[in-house]
Parts: sequence; C-alpha cells; structure tokens
Amino acid sequence: MNRQHRRLAGECADLRERLADTEERVEQLQNTLQAVAREAGIASVTHPCRRCEQSLLLVRDGRIYCPSCRYGRSV
Ligand SMILES: [Zn+2]
Repeated sequence: MNRQHRRLAGECADLRERLADTEERVEQLQNTLQAVAREAGIASVTHPCRRCEQSLLLVRDGRIYCPSCRYGRSV
C-alpha cells in the first residue's frame, strides 16, 4: 500500500468507528426521548418538521406541533 492509500484506509476506519458511536448515541437519545415524552404527556414523537427541519413533530392533547419553530395544527 502506498502512503495515500494507507491514509485513506485510516480515515475510513476512523469514519466507521465514528458512525458506530453516532448510531449508538442516536439510539440512546431516541430511548431517552420516548421516556421523557411519555412522562411529559406527549402521545407520540413523529416525523421531522417540514417547515424548519430542525425537530421532530410532537403530538399532545390532540395537537401536532414543532417545538423548534412553533408550527402547529390540530390532528
Ligand atoms: Zn419546525
């Protein structure tokens, strides 16, 4: 392997490791979010907000809303 090839292989291994760490972190956050949502009386955490794309939409007391941009409507 030449030098550039070795460097790329190393970067690829780093990225794989970071991706695995990130996936684990996302799963932990999803589990935590579901538990916190339940305790806060939120019926469900749904799809990403199409308006701002900064948050998932929440359903609570018959309303669906975005906690980031405050978009909301009844369901
Ligand atoms: Zn939004």
